[in-house]
Amino acid sequence: MALVTTKEMFKKAYEGHYAIGAFNINNMEIIQAVVNGAKAQKSPVILQVSSGAMKYAGATYLRKMVEAAIEDTGIDIALHLDHGASLDACKEAINAGFTSVMFDGSHYDYEENVRLTKEVVEYAHSKGVVVEAELGQLAGIEDDVNVEHSTYTEPKQAIDFVQRTGCDSLAIAIGTSHGAFKFTGEAKLEFGILEEIQNALPGFPIVLHGASAVDPRYIAMCNEYGGQISGAKGVPADMLRKASSMAVCKINMDTDIRLAMTANVRKVFGDNPKEFDPRKYLGAARTSIQALVEDKIKDVLGSTNSL
Ligand SMILES: [Zn+2]
Repeated sequence: MALVTTKEMFKKAYEGHYAIGAFNINNMEIIQAVVNGAKAQKSPVILQVSSGAMKYAGATYLRKMVEAAIEDTGIDIALHLDHGASLDACKEAINAGFTSVMFDGSHYDYEENVRLTKEVVEYAHSKGVVVEAELGQLAGIEDDVNVEHSTYTEPKQAIDFVQRTGCDSLAIAIGTSHGAFKFTGEAKLEFGILEEIQNALPGFPIVLHGASAVDPRYIAMCNEYGGQISGAKGVPADMLRKASSMAVCKINMDTDIRLAMTANVRKVFGDNPKEFDPRKYLGAARTSIQALVEDKIKDVLGSTNSL
C-alpha cells in the first residue's frame, strides 16, 4: 500500500478494457467515501485535487488525509493535480507529494501548449511524477473558468502532441463537458476521434473529463428540499463503458459527487429542521457518495475486482 503514480494502473486498465475513476476531493468525508467505495469494489482509484480545492483545504491537509486513507484501507492510491494552470502550479503539487499532475494548456495555441507541456513533463519526470496533458477544449465551467464552445480534439494533432511532449496520458475533447449542463439534446460522443488516436498510439492512455451522469434523481432531490438546480443531460453510462473498453483509462466525474452530497445534506435538514450536528448531515453525504462511487465502478468504469 502506497501513494503510487498512474503508470501501472493505466497499463492494467488498458489491457483489461476498463477505466479508473478520478474523483475530486476536498474534505475528509469525500476522501473516506471514495476510498471505501473503491476498497469495497476492489478497484484502483485516483484522488484528484483542483487548484480551488488546494486553496480550500491546503496541500498538506489533503496529502496527509490521503496518506491516512492508504493506511486505513491498505490500497494503492494515485494523488493527482486536476487542471494545473502553470508549471509553478504543477511544481507546487509535485513538491507537496502528488504522484501525478495535469498541465492544462488546452486554451493556448497549439505550439505554445506543446512547449509548456514539455517543460512540465521534463520537471515532473525528473521527480518520478507522471503528466496528463490536454488537447481540444471542453465546454462548461471548471473552477472559475467558463468555456462556451467545445473544440473537438484533432486526431493527427493529438498524435503529434503526444510524440513531441512525452506526456503520459492525454485528455481529449469528444463531446463531454464540465459542470451540470452538458447536453441539451441527445448525448453524443465522437468515438471516431477516440478510435483514430487509439489506432495511431496503441497502449497510450486517454482521459475523459466532464463525464458525470448528472443523475436526475439528485437534481430532483436537491429541488425537493429547497434547492434551485436546473439540470441538463449528462453522459450516459453505456457510452462511458464503451469508452473505457477502448483507450480511455481515466474518467473524471466531479459533478455527480457534488450533487449527491448536496442532495443528501439538504434532505437531512428538510426531514429534520432541528438538526445541527455536522456528523449527521456530513455522515449522510458520505454514505451517499460511497454508494455513488461503487455504482460508477460497476456501471461506468468496469474496474471491479481489478486490484
Ligand atoms: Zn476537467
